[in-house]
Amino acid sequence: MNIHEFQTKMLFREYGIPVPEGRVADTDAAARNIAEEIGGDKWVVKAQIHAGGRGKGGGVKIAESLDEVQQHADHIIGMNLVTPQTGEQGRLVRRVLVEQAQDIKKEFYFGLIIDRVSQRIAVIASASGGMDIEEVAKTDPDKVIHETIDPAIGLPDFQCRKIASKIGLTGPLMGQAVKMMKGLYRLFRDKKAMMVEINPLAIVGDDQLVALDAKMNFDGNAVEQYPEIMELRDFEEEDPKEVEASGHGLNYIALDGNVGCIVNGAGLAMATMDSIALHKGMPANFLDVGGGASPEKIANAFRIVLTDPNVKVILLNIFAGINRCDWIATGVVQAMKDQKIEQPVVVRLAGTNYEAGQKILKESGLPFITADDLDDAARKAVEALS
Ligand code: GDP
Ligand code: MN
Repeated sequence: MNIHEFQTKMLFREYGIPVPEGRVADTDAAARNIAEEIGGDKWVVKAQIHAGGRGKGGGVKIAESLDEVQQHADHIIGMNLVTPQTGEQGRLVRRVLVEQAQDIKKEFYFGLIIDRVSQRIAVIASASGGMDIEEVAKTDPDKVIHETIDPAIGLPDFQCRKIASKIGLTGPLMGQAVKMMKGLYRLFRDKKAMMVEINPLAIVGDDQLVALDAKMNFDGNAVEQYPEIMELRDFEEEDPKEVEASGHGLNYIALDGNVGCIVNGAGLAMATMDSIALHKGMPANFLDVGGGASPEKIANAFRIVLTDPNVKVILLNIFAGINRCDWIATGVVQAMKDQKIEQPVVVRLAGTNYEAGQKILKESGLPFITADDLDDAARKAVEALS
């Protein structure tokens, strides 16, 4: 689960990590008021969306007067911001963060991630900040520092000093860096984060270390224990189909292809997607309806899959253990009738109450394409495309 920059910065303040003075606004007039209230003579107006690379897309602007703050805010709020991370369709900007602009002397990268190899939290740091860290890691791997943290010890001062010195933070800046790293690590552990990234972490004005950008995401399952983090979820930034699906107890992930998939169990859903790809097709989504799916749940699954206009055929693949093929079939027939589905529907049923399910399908008189096994189903679905 992602949160916005302004929300991450509020968490940073709670944990003593220095961030510029600033607040969020949803109108240009409010943006101007904030600039006036926080004072100073230069401000930065920043689009708040769940994607990085905003600077490159024109979503981060420096203003030298209150009028300019308002103009930038007017331009950015409501814009469709396209960045290297949004895809070409872009993202609608609903809010801007207005901050006192800083004079940047040097930019660094600092992040904490869950490192799958060592199964530990790891620090990623670099003196090459402000730019795409993945790019730096590719072209200049020596410039990216990687340090794993021992969970039994945490992040002790000496390790912080070692990291700071490796990226060239010495003297009083080292002291600030140690304090920042410890605060960040505490925040990361306290809230079950998966990633926190400061890019750039900057030396500004009179040698102060400040987090100019801030990004954080959380484990969607773990975070349910932290209502204060759950509250920060912004449904408008998520795929509406995925939000609706989760409301119906369905695990749905939108993809780029045109074969809509309705499957029970995450493993079988993955195998179904692989089989479609093997037959040179592309799945339009991942969808796991879970165990014990009622006819209503199946009908909802059809509705959600079909809100994607790219779907040209639907593949239903159920291996019923806890599920019952007769319930599934009832749901499919209901969906076909109520939703006036025009796309071909390939049905593969196996397991509990298989005969009863087949009977329901046959007696409905609807034009299903039935399949014997997974491979057969995937092949027929891809064939139905042409
Ligand atoms: P991103 O493009 O989505 O990663 O957004 P950032 O918050 O990193 O902003 C993009 C760039 O704007 C940064 O890399 C900085 O170079 C610049 N920037 C952000 N805040 C300030 C500021 O207060 N002063 C100055 N001079 N530049 C800033
Ligand atoms: Mn950034």
